[in-house]
Amino acid sequence: MNPVIALVGRPNVGKSTLFNQLTRSRDAIVADFPGLTRDRQYGNGQLGNKPFTVIDTGGITGDEQGIDAAMAEQSLLAIDEADIVLFLVDARAGLTPTDMSIANHLRINRKKTWLVVNKVDGLQEDIATAEFHELGLGETWPIAASHGRNVTQLIDIVLAPF
Ligand code: GDP
Ligand code: MG
Repeated sequence: MNPVIALVGRPNVGKSTLFNQLTRSRDAIVADFPGLTRDRQYGNGQLGNKPFTVIDTGGITGDEQGIDAAMAEQSLLAIDEADIVLFLVDARAGLTPTDMSIANHLRINRKKTWLVVNKVDGLQEDIATAEFHELGLGETWPIAASHGRNVTQLIDIVLAPF
């Protein structure tokens, strides 16, 4: 089976933009959970000769109730299904309390997690990533999903063990 990469993080950090970059909408299918508009979405990508599956999620707001609770549930299911978790944060928004609570969950999860700092276009990478070290998830990986900056390099590294 192909390695599975889950994209998790707050809404609006750029998960779907990265998903589209990685899959180029090829074979994108929407998970079959009727009634939910913010389901997990599965797509296939390939880097060199390595195929992989990527799961986009609706995002975790930090105070989930009602439909939002289901949305967060999708993120937890995606993490369970994944071999690799890419936790996206937003360099422009900066570190938020919700990022902190997602990080707390990911730290106790045993899945290999990569802290991806998105939207670094026009920013200096070391400055843009500095505050996110506080999340305690180790090294930060700056990208600009909408520009494709550092995206291939990141996927190459996360797929290396597979
Ligand atoms: P999601 O809610 O996490 O799926 O986020 P989206 O992929 O929908 O992106 C949210 C917003 O951030 C959109 O307006 C994107 O165009 C923008 N965005 C995504 N990636 C980047 C990036 O690398 N740089 C900048 N400047 N904006 C981005
Ligand atoms: Mg999205």
